[in-house]
Amino acid sequence: MNTNDNLMEKIVSLCKRRGFIFQSSEIYGGLSNTWDYGPFGVELKNNVKSAWWKANVYDRDDILGMDAAILMHPKVWEASGHVDNFYDLKSDCKSCKKRFKVADLKDPKRCPECKGELTQGRPFNLMFKTHQGPVEDGTGLIYLRPETAQGMFVNFLNILDSKHPKLPFGLAQIGKAFRNEVTPGNFTFRTREFEQMEIEYFVKPGEADKKLEEWIDYRFNWYLNLGIKKENLRKRPHTKDELAHYAKACTDIEYNFPFGWSELEGIANRTDFDLKQHAQVSQKELQYFDGTTKEKFYPYIIEPSGGVDRSVLAFLVDAYDEEKVKDDVRVVVKLNKDLAPIKVAVLPLLKNRPEIVELAKRIAKDLKKCFITVYDDTASIGKLYRRQDEVGTLYCVTVDVQSLEDKQVTVRDRDTMLQDRIGIDNLKKYLWEKLNS
Ligand code: ATP
Repeated sequence: MNTNDNLMEKIVSLCKRRGFIFQSSEIYGGLSNTWDYGPFGVELKNNVKSAWWKANVYDRDDILGMDAAILMHPKVWEASGHVDNFYDLKSDCKSCKKRFKVADLKDPKRCPECKGELTQGRPFNLMFKTHQGPVEDGTGLIYLRPETAQGMFVNFLNILDSKHPKLPFGLAQIGKAFRNEVTPGNFTFRTREFEQMEIEYFVKPGEADKKLEEWIDYRFNWYLNLGIKKENLRKRPHTKDELAHYAKACTDIEYNFPFGWSELEGIANRTDFDLKQHAQVSQKELQYFDGTTKEKFYPYIIEPSGGVDRSVLAFLVDAYDEEKVKDDVRVVVKLNKDLAPIKVAVLPLLKNRPEIVELAKRIAKDLKKCFITVYDDTASIGKLYRRQDEVGTLYCVTVDVQSLEDKQVTVRDRDTMLQDRIGIDNLKKYLWEKLNS
């Protein structure tokens, strides 16, 4: 477990203080377990999604991107098994009235908080229901999707007909999913509205076991390549009794959160369950025709399914650091350069000198053409550095009195705090090399 005391409280507080993540509807007392991403949070989240898209779509030749609608035909959820099987058992305490997920209970009869008697576990479907159209009489019943996956299965035929891909190939999608969780919590770790990053990888049935192992390694390394410390990441194969109704095998990638090892992503062998179910319920031909062997069959599906919000939280927790600097403590968020919301901050040393301010603003404007850059002159230089460290800004460029004469600026590295004196003409090249090395 991460040993830093109260690390979660520190992360939640930093997220609010610096504009990463806010409580939803806070001025009305907040909507519990629902969170809004602020100016730095949305940049970090977008960077996580871009890094995922690059590694899984642009860097490979066998994956195609998609963006399906959240609302789908209600029959999708009958065919997928979600109407019948997507349940959690919940149990209520007869004394303190708190509600628990039975799977989380050590003793299913006693309340873990007040030791009162618990009710029998009752099934609770996790899908959010709503109505399509103006009449709410049940005929327009529709669900908010609990996973993005089904949008890819029901488009399998469209993809075959429009792109003619050969096995193995995959579809990738990032989007919102909704689950009426019994016990949400741990900040953004478990919420009722969240975003998923999912791949459905179609393979010949005989190759599924091998491809599952390849995907587990590929996805595990993605987190390491983006800076997650090796000791905080592990693979955990599912036991037979915890497998979802559609899966033959599954391995979770877990992160060592301050509240314990927990799932970041699951990589499952969904077999041919989904395509067969949709073929049966829709009465459409969803088999793949192999032009070489002239065989028709349902491909197996390997599904790496990760959460955007959980990844963002893991990257933040992992990057958070407190360093002793002289008599002070420096809080620094050492996010990987591809994930850091801001790459460069330009800071004037003296804001009461118009020539310095003017030069600093000109440099910032020029750097914005190449890098995500901000200009800030709202505090003393020491405070400005600390502020940038807390949001993970990679380089601070300081313009001082001497810059007016020697046309040079000071560039400070976030992690080492070492400073280089660089000619203004050379600044873009210097930063480009650092950021693309
Ligand atoms: P858990 O066991 O933690 O409830 P799960 O096994 O039900 O998760 P999956 O159905 O495999 O989750 O969903 C794939 C990914 O979507 C998860 O690994 C997680 O990153 C993300 N995810 C699922 N449920 C939530 C949630 N309620 N809040 C935030 N992210 C979620």
